[in-house]
Amino acid sequence: MICDICNSTTDEKRGTRISSAKFQELLNKGFGIDETNIEIITAGGHISRDEAIEMIKQQYAASSSAWLLCPECAAKAKQTEKAAKKASGTGCLLLLLLAPLAGIAYYFIA
Ligand SMILES: [Zn+2]
Repeated sequence: MICDICNSTTDEKRGTRISSAKFQELLNKGFGIDETNIEIITAGGHISRDEAIEMIKQQYAASSSAWLLCPECAAKAKQTEKAAKKASGTGCLLLLLLAPLAGIAYYFIA
């Protein structure tokens, strides 16, 4: 069996299956576009890197079957999820810190 992301060989035992919905979620967080696939598409020289990424995203979005990930890609997927969680956590904290400051600023301006 072949990893759906990086095309390396894996099997049912070592690989991880994720639903297409889950994969879309990860895709939106920046996971799933393998450098090799970008290189294949841009190799002809007619398509820019951004266009290639867009093409891959569209192709992936059309798929509704489960995805098989090799251990390496599964680890990357986990990292992507962790990073996204961390980022949103930091955002909330920043907002909490900034809200009183904004209130003080408003007090002085008004
Ligand atoms: Zn892989």
